[in-house]
Amino acid sequence: MGLSILGATGSIGRQTLDVAEGLGLEISALAAGSSAQALETAARRFRPKIAILYDEKAAADLRGRLADTDVKVLSGMEGLLEAASLPQADTVLAAMSGAVGLRPALAAIEAGKKLALANKETLVCAGRLVTAAAEAAGVPLLPVDSEHSAIFQCLQGQGEVKRILLTASGGPFRNHSAEELKHVTREDALRHPNWSMGPKITVDSATLMNKGLEFIEAMHLFRVPPEKIKVLIHPQSVVHSAVEFADGAVIAQLGSPDMRLPIQLALTWPERKPCPAPALDLTKTAPLSFAEPDLERFPCLGLAMDCAKRPETADGAVMNAANEEAVRAFLEGRIGFTQIYEIVSRTLEALSGRPGRTLEEILGSDEEARRLSKACLSSIS
Ligand code: NDP
Ligand code: MG
Repeated sequence: MGLSILGATGSIGRQTLDVAEGLGLEISALAAGSSAQALETAARRFRPKIAILYDEKAAADLRGRLADTDVKVLSGMEGLLEAASLPQADTVLAAMSGAVGLRPALAAIEAGKKLALANKETLVCAGRLVTAAAEAAGVPLLPVDSEHSAIFQCLQGQGEVKRILLTASGGPFRNHSAEELKHVTREDALRHPNWSMGPKITVDSATLMNKGLEFIEAMHLFRVPPEKIKVLIHPQSVVHSAVEFADGAVIAQLGSPDMRLPIQLALTWPERKPCPAPALDLTKTAPLSFAEPDLERFPCLGLAMDCAKRPETADGAVMNAANEEAVRAFLEGRIGFTQIYEIVSRTLEALSGRPGRTLEEILGSDEEARRLSKACLSSIS
């Protein structure tokens, strides 16, 4: 059986293709947003049944490029939903960036696929809906995010959890003062000290919103209340996360900062296979340190931890949508770094408490939050 990759041209998608090649997996579908050339290259290398570009024009371009092959080219949300539920695949790796990944993730679950989930925004927007759907369909949700892969590994065969210790590198501005943060540039934010990732998650790592999204992701994946999750700043990114159990024992997963390991594990679980990621040499790592996060300098983390307390509302979806719009504006040079928080908090203040039980409610709140944050953006940029 095969693997379908959503977000195949991105940082996670490209690493997944390398891992899949190493494992000799068959690729059933490849999907991306608008990168026709990159998707053509991947489609020629892996010959999927279908290739999808969300953007109609780019899909038409791709159709022309692949005219000499038997790869079928589709477009739009319909195409993504078809990729997610293709009968030839037994596993879907969801690595699109943003809330646009939510409907395809649900479609994969409903079609009974194993879901290897990198797209954390899906759980931030609709964690209850997605985990309930996976349980109802009897399909596993396999975390790709390195921290959640670590927690997943620590939990195997263990008893009652006291706390999850969610580690964070602290990003490129870990030691910046509040004043210095006001003047950092897009280029500064895109220079992550330990990981090489797509632009949106790299900015999220700099604001610590990424850790906030991961806080909500962990709460849903592992069904723990927010008060049992503790964020620790660990600049070396060697301990990918840990779990403290009822007796006080702490089990951690360590490794080099290379996403190919968690990607591969999500694809081979419950087996482990040799992986191309460099081995961890504990005699050569810098001394490991752990510290409390500073919620005053990095208020996005506090916002997300607060949203986590209201899982029955659409607050996660509202916060995520506002953050997506604000990060896009920051990357386009329209707002400063600290204004990301301003946009997200103003949008949340206005829309907090909307119900978030159904997909319609969640998508409606996502749309409303984008409308409002764009209005906020045009008033300040
Ligand atoms: P990238 O920006 O590198 O890649 C995003 C991918 O999503 C691209 O293939 C892009 O296609 C595709 N995409 C964007 N919009 C759409 C759309 N509307 N329809 C279909 N595809 C779309 O991101 P990353 O790979 O860094 O991250 C992907 C996800 O994985 C995110 O949710 C992130 O939080 C998560 N993650 C990433 C990690 C990392 O190390 N990179 C670590 C842990 C989690 P196109 O090229 O055409 O725009
Ligand atoms: Mg992570």
